[in-house]
Amino acid sequence: MTQGLTLLGATGSIGASTLDVVARHSGRFRVFALTAHRSADALLALCLRHAPRYAVLSGLQEDAGLRRRYADAGCRTELLFGAQALEQVAADAECDVLMAAIVGAAGLAPTLAGARAGKRVLLANKEALVMAGPFFMRAVRERGAVLLPIDSEHNAVFQCLPQEAAQLSGRTDVNSVRRILLTASGGPFRSAPLERLTRVTPDEACAHPNWVMGRKISVDSATMMNKGLEVIEARWLFGVAPECIEVLIHSQSIIHSMVEFVDGSVIAQMSNPDMRVPIAHALGFPERIESGAAQLDLAALGQLSFERPDAQRFPCLGLAYAALREGGTAPAVLNAANEVAVAAFLDGRLRYTAIPQVIEHVLRMTPAAAADSLDTVLDADRRARRAATDGVAALMGRAA
Ligand code: NAD
Ligand code: MG
Repeated sequence: MTQGLTLLGATGSIGASTLDVVARHSGRFRVFALTAHRSADALLALCLRHAPRYAVLSGLQEDAGLRRRYADAGCRTELLFGAQALEQVAADAECDVLMAAIVGAAGLAPTLAGARAGKRVLLANKEALVMAGPFFMRAVRERGAVLLPIDSEHNAVFQCLPQEAAQLSGRTDVNSVRRILLTASGGPFRSAPLERLTRVTPDEACAHPNWVMGRKISVDSATMMNKGLEVIEARWLFGVAPECIEVLIHSQSIIHSMVEFVDGSVIAQMSNPDMRVPIAHALGFPERIESGAAQLDLAALGQLSFERPDAQRFPCLGLAYAALREGGTAPAVLNAANEVAVAAFLDGRLRYTAIPQVIEHVLRMTPAAAADSLDTVLDADRRARRAATDGVAALMGRAA
C-alpha cells in the first residue's frame, strides 16, 4: 500500500528536497496534497508533475481566474484557498504522512491538526515546537501520532538515541543521557570582524557556507537564533533539561549532532550537508531508503573542527536560553519577535545587529503567561508581533 503524503510548504527548500526523495520512491508514496502560501505558478508546476488530489494556496482568497488557469494548464488537482484548508489536508483520512515544512509561526496550527489526527508527522517547522512545545507533545502522545524530526540536528540526535526513543513522544530515557551536543556551522559571520556586522546586507546574511535554505532560516543561522530555536526544539522533542543541551560550533557541518551518555560514550551522526538525508531517514523509518545524497568522503575532508560559540558575537543564542528558562509563552514571544525583526532586516528596514535588540526589548515588554492552549500561544504571538513592530519603528526613527 502506498502512503499518502501531505506536504505543507511544498514550494520551499525543504519542500523541494522532500519531493526529490519521494520521486525516487514512487512505489512507496503518493502525493496527496501540496501547499504554498501565494506562489500559484510554482505550485501549479508541482501539481502538473506530482498530480496531487489537493493543492492549497493558504495566503489567497477564492479566485475563479486561478482555478481556470490551473484547469487550462491541464491540472486535475482540486484547488483550495485560505489557511483553514491547511488543517483540512493535514488531518484528512487519506493523509498518512504529514511533512510540516511551512516556515514560521504559520505552521503551528496545521501541524498541530496533523498531530491531533494521529498522523505520522515529519517536523521541519521547528517554530511550531518552539511556540507550543508542552501541549504539542501532549497532543502527540494522547492522539498516538508519530513525530519524526527533520531538522538535521534533531534527526541526528534521534538516530543516536537508544531504540526506546524510536517513536518520539518526549519520553527519551533521560537517565542514560548526560548531554545533547547540537552542532552549528557558525554561519557566514563566524569569524568576520565584529564591527563589520552593523553593515551586513541581507544577501550576505543569506549566503550560508554549507546549506542552501529559505531566507528566514538563513538569517537565523547567521545570528545563531536558529540554534537557539533548536535548543528549545530539542528540549521538548527529547524531554531533557535545558542545562543538558549544549551548542558546539563545527564549521564543516558533517557531524549533525551528538549524544553523550552517562558512561562517557559520545555517539555522533554524520553525512554530507544535504537535507535529503534526514528527510529520507524520516520518510523510510524504521527502514533505510535512498536519499540521492553524495557519499561522505572523510579522507577528502581531512579534518573536522570544533569550538565554543562566542556569546558576544551571537547574543540571540543567550536570548533563546533565557526564554526557555522563563518558560510559558516566552519562547513564543521570542519566536514572534525574531520573525518580525528578521523580516524587517530582509526588507532593508533594520540593521543586522539590531535583530537581538528588538527581541530583547520585546521579551522585556511582554510578560510570559502559561502556554496551555493554542489560543494563549497565538495571543502571545500577536502581542509580541505588535511590540516588535513598534520596536523596529523606534529603532528606525533613531537611525534616521
Ligand atoms: P522556505 O522559505 O524555502 O519555504 C517556506 C514554505 O512555506 C513555502 O512553501 C511557502 O509558500 C510556505 N509559507 C511561507 N509563509 C507561509 C504562511 N504564512 N502560511 C503558509 N505557508 C507559508 O523555507 P525552508 O527553508 O524550506 O524552511 C521551512 C521550515 O523548515 C522552516 O521552519 C525551517 O526552520 C525548517 N528547516 C529548514 C531547513 C532547510 O535546510 N531549508 C533545515 C532545517 C529546518
Ligand atoms: Mg537545523
